[in-house]
Amino acid sequence: MALVHNWQLDRAMSYWYPESRPKKQFAAVFDTNKCIACQTCTLACKTTWTSGQGQEYMLWNNVESKPYGFYPLGWDVQLLERLGGQSWSGRHYEGRTIFEAAGAGERVLGWRPDELDYAYPNVGEDDSAGAELQTGAFMELPHTKWFFYLARICNHCTYPACLASCPRSSIYKRQEDGVVLIDQSRCRGYQECVRACPYKKTFFNPMTSTSEKCIGCFPKIEMGQQPQCFVNCIGKIRHVGWISRPEDARPDNPVDYLVHIRKVALPLYPQWGLEPNVYYIPPVHVPRSFLRMMFGPGVDHAIESYRKAPDDPDLVGLLSLFGSSPQIVPRWKRLGDSVIGLTEAGAEILRVPMKEPVHIRKAFDLAAGVTRTNTP
Ligand code: SF4
Ligand code: SF4
Ligand code: SF4
Repeated sequence: MALVHNWQLDRAMSYWYPESRPKKQFAAVFDTNKCIACQTCTLACKTTWTSGQGQEYMLWNNVESKPYGFYPLGWDVQLLERLGGQSWSGRHYEGRTIFEAAGAGERVLGWRPDELDYAYPNVGEDDSAGAELQTGAFMELPHTKWFFYLARICNHCTYPACLASCPRSSIYKRQEDGVVLIDQSRCRGYQECVRACPYKKTFFNPMTSTSEKCIGCFPKIEMGQQPQCFVNCIGKIRHVGWISRPEDARPDNPVDYLVHIRKVALPLYPQWGLEPNVYYIPPVHVPRSFLRMMFGPGVDHAIESYRKAPDDPDLVGLLSLFGSSPQIVPRWKRLGDSVIGLTEAGAEILRVPMKEPVHIRKAFDLAAGVTRTNTP
């Protein structure tokens, strides 16, 4: 085992290969507060990449309702239980990662779902937690019931467990963009990656007897285009780009700004040790203890900053850029009431106004002699 640095844990950790970061690292920010669980992202990926035989239960992108939704069943709670104590001291993780907790003869602490665990993609959808709903209940504020939607793709991890576990070295991380891929010609279907990936984002195809996973839509990335599940997102919750190491963070890089500088977007289960590269703006209405378990110790700061966004023109400006272009927007700046998306070289891709005029029509339209129901 090598000793590598994991900035999300604020410490060194053991990994099966020496630290080797790609030239650029694919990364994304998802704003959970805006997701409406329409599953358009799921459909966009499915129809593009996994509509073949043997891929019926393969959802490279899925959206689940937390806390009772999972795909596959129990993917996170199964591992949380196996891993045991996961404590933090400030930003420093004091527990064990899944690499450090691996038993004798295994590379990663993992588990393999049963076939039936893949049978219910919508389990727990819209089931609320917080209190039992009694017959005749009415809404009180603040209300204690909650759930939220968690959209998930492969995290194209800096320290992928799938890659570490593969006995055939079939899984590799591309130098040019950090995307993690499975070489289908090398894979023999041992499913060690299915067992090892804690996010359960590698899937076994029984027709080809190989494992498959999200490819980060790399043919689109190579053309400077956003992946399918991003460009089709109805709620405009997603931004794709490149992440730097914390010490190299640039304020004009949208992902760096949200993750490293403003710290409003957090990794999913950072304590597992993979340095995942999809970051989440946590939901503001969910109990903090639950969110700290999922997104680590930065939750309070992230939510407080996000709540203040209406008085924070830079933050609200950057959030307005989400989902506004089919192109990848790697740089940005704000000019007054507009936010501008830029190429790496500084050329303008698009301009989004932060304030839009509001027109309120009268309920009764004198000219037409009708009452409109879509007016206040
Ligand atoms: S398309 Fe966007 S809003 Fe709809 S479920 Fe997917 S992530 Fe959520
Ligand atoms: S999320 Fe899973 S499949 Fe994706 S790179 Fe990380 S370990 Fe591999
Ligand atoms: S990035 Fe592409 S391959 Fe990956 S989940 Fe999204 S649409 Fe599917």
